[in-house]
Amino acid sequence: MINSDNMANSFDISVHSLAGNGRDGLCSGHLPLAQTEEGRRAPSLTVDDHAKQQATFYLETFGCQMNEHDSEKVAGVLLARGYKQVESVEAASVVLYNTCSIREKAAQKVFSRLGEFRFAQRQDQLIGVLGCVAQQEGEKIFTRAPWVNLVCGSASYRKLPQLLAELEAGNRRVTGLETDTDETFETEVTRRDNPWRAYLTIIEGCDKACSYCVVPFTRGPERSRSSASILEEVRKLAGAGYTEVQLLGQTVNSYADPSARGMRFSELLVAVAEVQGIRRVRFTTSHPRDFGKDIVEAMETVPEVCEHVHLPVQSGSTKVLRAMARTYTRDEYLEKIAMLRAAKREISLTTDIIVGFPGETDKDFEETLSLLDAAQYDGAFSFKYSPRPNTPSLKIADAIPEEEKSRRLALLMEKQREIQRARNEKLVGRHFEVMVEGKSRRENQWSGHTSSNKVMNFTSREQESLGDYLQVKVISATPNSLVGEKLSVAAIYGV
Ligand code: SAM
Ligand code: SF4
Repeated sequence: MINSDNMANSFDISVHSLAGNGRDGLCSGHLPLAQTEEGRRAPSLTVDDHAKQQATFYLETFGCQMNEHDSEKVAGVLLARGYKQVESVEAASVVLYNTCSIREKAAQKVFSRLGEFRFAQRQDQLIGVLGCVAQQEGEKIFTRAPWVNLVCGSASYRKLPQLLAELEAGNRRVTGLETDTDETFETEVTRRDNPWRAYLTIIEGCDKACSYCVVPFTRGPERSRSSASILEEVRKLAGAGYTEVQLLGQTVNSYADPSARGMRFSELLVAVAEVQGIRRVRFTTSHPRDFGKDIVEAMETVPEVCEHVHLPVQSGSTKVLRAMARTYTRDEYLEKIAMLRAAKREISLTTDIIVGFPGETDKDFEETLSLLDAAQYDGAFSFKYSPRPNTPSLKIADAIPEEEKSRRLALLMEKQREIQRARNEKLVGRHFEVMVEGKSRRENQWSGHTSSNKVMNFTSREQESLGDYLQVKVISATPNSLVGEKLSVAAIYGV
């Protein structure tokens, strides 16, 4: 881990009008298209053609877990409208890229994908840019990539069915770019990728305004789902066999129940954990400012609330934290760590760190390294500062050269690697409950996660069922994972 509305029924425009001349027999008709950007005009479909074909979509996701989950919901919206998901651009009538703009490299990748698409594009194919790059670049995308048909930012996903309907009606340039919303993106259907672990966004957007970050611009203001709708969905998920729920939000612990019930985040954690059939409740990402003792108490008292907190620090220097507008000092952050370390249950702790923020001196960086010693994280995602459009930090002087950022990143990663190695080695000999999530190609080798979110690769000579929970004994450790063997029932009960 070191590293860096009722959709199905509300729209009655045929999805078939989106499909076109397919090469693969998937879309064997023509589009009733208006003139496209390239001046091409495709012939109209006959009623018979409509009946024969099914519109297909290809969806590729860039970026964070929230984007991955947004894509699950976007896929749900399209499936509910009768589209079929396909695994290749070639087989798709609609190609969608759900994009990330958190760092420059991520945003560049999207434009290079758009370039590749243009090269291979069939006349009948439509392409849409969703997510943070869409929100950030807006209609400028049409100038840079005129073959794009749909631009929809992450704060406007509620409009997606309407935008699809516009495309289906033959409109060739549609946009959803509002951020002044108090709505969250809820769908009747979510096509979930994992059969045991379900992701659930409980709060969208961000009001924190860290000086380096595009999220407040690309995802809009904070808006929370009502506790009743969250719990209703969790009950449905449990009924469908999901045992693990992961609550998501850019600042998940800033959750503010908009309903009269007014549930606190920690109360919501407990209520989700109490849903029959739910065995693990995870949450990410927590903002240090809103992280209180009540969340620790929920972890201490309710075993289903997993003992793992991802608490991004970003820097160990109070001066840099201030320039980042993180709203806490080094000492205040370390007080939160002390609270977590004093918990009755051993809590695993991970973080995010940015190196090379403008004005970060050697001394500031040393403070980040010393914070690693003090915090003893179980994992850290570390990044080189990347200047982003619209962000206040663009105006801060004393940019750090790229080579120096790379040097600091390498030092930080090496130090954190050693901390993780030592921490994981201390776990050798201990037993953990593991959810079976994968089978290795190597015989008798399986993998999964502990409740504390450690990766466990383990040996079992039995035919395990994915999604089951087992007791595993740790026999060795690496910085990034534990190696174990399944405990027999006799070993567990000491008989
Ligand atoms: N909301 C979370 C928080 O408060 O930390 C983080 C969300 S952000 C999608 C994930 C991480 O990306 C951040 O914690 C930060 O470390 C990193 N990040 C954000 N903007 C960045 C930038 N301009 N350059 C480098 N890393 C950045
Ligand atoms: Fe970005 Fe800061 Fe909001 Fe996290 S808390 S999403 S880093 S602005």
